Amino acid sequence: MSETSLNSQPGFCPLQPLVPPVTLQLKRGGVIVKVCVLASSSSGNSTFIATEKTRILVDAGLSRRDVLARLAAIGEDADELDAILITHEHSDHICGLVTLARQLKKRIPVMITRLTADSIPWGDFEPVLDSFGAGTSFRVGDIDVNSFTIPHDAIDPVGFCFQAEGIKIGLVTDLGYVTESIKVHIRRADLLIMESNHDLEMLKVGPYPWSVKQRVMGRKGHLSNDVVSEFIRNDLDVATSTLVLGHISEHNNHPELVRETALRALNGRLFTRLVVAEPRLQSEVFTY
Ligand SMILES: [Zn+2]
Ligand SMILES: [Zn+2]
Repeated sequence: MSETSLNSQPGFCPLQPLVPPVTLQLKRGGVIVKVCVLASSSSGNSTFIATEKTRILVDAGLSRRDVLARLAAIGEDADELDAILITHEHSDHICGLVTLARQLKKRIPVMITRLTADSIPWGDFEPVLDSFGAGTSFRVGDIDVNSFTIPHDAIDPVGFCFQAEGIKIGLVTDLGYVTESIKVHIRRADLLIMESNHDLEMLKVGPYPWSVKQRVMGRKGHLSNDVVSEFIRNDLDVATSTLVLGHISEHNNHPELVRETALRALNGRLFTRLVVAEPRLQSEVFTY
């Protein structure tokens, strides 16, 4: 069991705030790549990435209602999605998947590794599966997708890099440590979405049973604020102009602590903007 699977059950997504901030409305003119973290926390994860031609959702750890509302808040329609990509089977990444995919107007592919697909409770729903091997690259419309294995206590977890129109986006959450291979994959990302899950001290004195604490802290658990700081100091690419830190534990961390720790590590570096994804709220829209 991961930390995240303590918080939700398959097929049931925790409640999220109903009304997203109205300031997220965005006009489309001149935008060629658009990214919005619809939710990033232990209680639900989903990210929207689009070009003018292609729209994808990465993970569906929100209820269908929340996905629809949060897409609508940024001027997007779930029925226009071209694919749903899944990183791994933990409920905070897939709890809304079946309900969402079942009710879309068109049957779109769920792009997922075979092992992960086999571990998802589909019920009587027959998804259009488009399987890929962890570590392989593929294309969705005009978006190039590069998958890579991440160390996490799931059956076949992956992170992704997306490239379109010369823009590279890295998405890497739910990992026990940053492997050398991951560092190579996310190199030159313009926008990097990474987890900063827990504060080690808060985790140690927090409410979880010791066995769960050990798993969260372990090599297949989640990244602590300190490990992220080390990554920022030693490995964050100069090309990364926006760093979004997310998947923040609501029990063992605080967004302000994440911000303070990461800012210290950035050490006044002017060319990287830090954004902390508030648990349960959608992010601003990142446009290129
Ligand atoms: Zn997760
Ligand atoms: Zn997970």
